[in-house]
Amino acid sequence: MEINKKDIRALTKEQLRDFFVKEGDEAFRGNQVYEWLWSKSAHAFEDMTNISKETRQMLEDNFVINHIKVDTMQRSSDGTVKNAVRLHDGLIVESVLIPTPTRTTACVSSQVGCSLDCSFCATSRLKRMRNLNPDEIYDQVVAIDNESRLYFNRPLSNIVFMGMGEPLMNYNNVIKAIDKITSP
Ligand code: SF4
Repeated sequence: MEINKKDIRALTKEQLRDFFVKEGDEAFRGNQVYEWLWSKSAHAFEDMTNISKETRQMLEDNFVINHIKVDTMQRSSDGTVKNAVRLHDGLIVESVLIPTPTRTTACVSSQVGCSLDCSFCATSRLKRMRNLNPDEIYDQVVAIDNESRLYFNRPLSNIVFMGMGEPLMNYNNVIKAIDKITSP
């Protein structure tokens, strides 16, 4: 049952290496899979072509990869791009690419809804459903970076956590996401 499978991207590189050692494989297999997950943004185990079919099946049996999906994308006449992003459990958050002549800024969400009550903000009328996981924050940045390269021919220059949610109310996951985003 897929529902009991753990999201493989919740594992650190060390945990992934330990998993393979416990499975009787080599620790470096964990490095290979980690690279597929984070450097190559693999969406499926079958994409991991330097991993044997048996190992890919074993990963399939044990884990899921809960990638976000850009449900709808809207482009404004001023160049702004707005994504409605669907999460693995069907909930939706928004992220935005804001271009200027000198910058492309990603504005990403850190929670679904918000528990705070800022009077000027439309999100304050939505109930906070849950915190975003680090990978869900990271995926928003990757999606917007791809859009920036596609539409403006340059990578992102800035990131702000001013989408849905208050990032300091999801501090640990935001820090983990920043760690991934800024990793070489
Ligand atoms: S999303 Fe930001 S601005 Fe809106 S209610 Fe939450 S903390 Fe306030």
